[in-house]
Amino acid sequence: MRRMATTATRHSLLIDGQDVETGNWRAVHDPATGEVLAEVADGSAEDARRAVEAGRAAFERGDWSRITPGERAAVLDRLADLLEERADEVARVESRNTGKPLKFSTAFDLPLTIDNLRYFATAARNLEGKAAADYLGGYDSSIRREPLGVTAAISPWNYPLNMAAWKIGPALAAGNSVVLKPSELTPLTTLMLGRMALEAGLPAGVLNVVPGPGPEVGGELARNTGVALISVTGSTRTGEAVMREAAGTVKRLHLELGGKAPFVVFDDADLDAAAEGAIVGSFANCGQDCTAATRIYVHESVRDAFLERFLPRVEQLVVGDPFADDTDLGPLVSPQQRDRVDGFVRRALEAGAQVLAGGRPVGGPGAFYEPTGIGGAAPGSRIVQQEVFRPVVPVLRFP
Ligand code: NAD
Repeated sequence: MRRMATTATRHSLLIDGQDVETGNWRAVHDPATGEVLAEVADGSAEDARRAVEAGRAAFERGDWSRITPGERAAVLDRLADLLEERADEVARVESRNTGKPLKFSTAFDLPLTIDNLRYFATAARNLEGKAAADYLGGYDSSIRREPLGVTAAISPWNYPLNMAAWKIGPALAAGNSVVLKPSELTPLTTLMLGRMALEAGLPAGVLNVVPGPGPEVGGELARNTGVALISVTGSTRTGEAVMREAAGTVKRLHLELGGKAPFVVFDDADLDAAAEGAIVGSFANCGQDCTAATRIYVHESVRDAFLERFLPRVEQLVVGDPFADDTDLGPLVSPQQRDRVDGFVRRALEAGAQVLAGGRPVGGPGAFYEPTGIGGAAPGSRIVQQEVFRPVVPVLRFP
């Protein structure tokens, strides 16, 4: 599979249907090579405020909020069509920006995103509204689902395009305007999505994309009185910060935060299937899933038999160029993330755990880390308890 040319491109914010430069450019890197992939205008709190105003003006204009659900569904379907037509190009950008294998972006991120947009298009036409029975005085009541106004969304770096679609799909389907802030690390496909939405017929100002620093742009969106709802997918710490900032305006909150999923192998399990499930659960998407199986608990009577099946498969995982057909794991999303992962492993070892597989950064300019299994970690230790994205699997005895 071919890489794209490495000329860095420049991308502006998208506010009120216009490209907006901010005077500050943030370099966006290819985590597999360390090369600068693009420069993206870095938004500020002021840019976030302008985007909210554009969203508000669009909402009041009514060319999205007051058209029929069928008309909104048609635009979301056209957006899905455009994404389908350009799926190869978008998958390449996603893989270059995140480091996830191209075969994963192609087989998973893109089809899922396209299908999700079609789902939300359908959902626009199926909003429920229940009616209550008549009661005293001849009054009755019913639930009507109406758009709120301007909604804000903050997305993470592990599924940039898919998370962006999950955020904008339901909000747009219901007739809201959206201000979307992607992760500083991975804004490229979100900006592409914003521009494709205009092409699909979404009126200007209905979807605004403002990349920029989390506390500054995201903090402003959380505090802004013009934002009716804020949706965040990210770390628990970010969720706490947004909840605090949003409290002053009592806005609606939607938080999807960190995970630390256990994978439990009982003594009557099919161990081949368990080993296979643990590989996919732990290492898909370079191990950077909120639902990744980052702790494996195995009944002690099948511990050795499980490890005999699991560990050779960990060693066989191919780490390398995300654009190579045989690659199973690309790099982690950034050198900072690789160093963070390594810190967790080193501290676990100092605390008495053992490396069962991997356990080291891979040399070279990319943010690669060996697929890793850790055994014997104490149940209360940080590597077992703390949420961290990593290709590390603490394997514990199950008492
Ligand atoms: P992160 O919290 O560092 O960043 C997520 C987003 O929040 C980014 O856009 C960032 O700029 C923004 N942000 C950071 N600080 C902010 C602040 N003070 N106010 C407002 N916005 C702020 O998370 P990440 O490292 O990009 O993503 C990984 C995290 O996301 C992991 O914790 C993972 O478990 C979680 N995640 C959860 C789900 C889920 O469905 N629950 C899905 C994917 C990722």
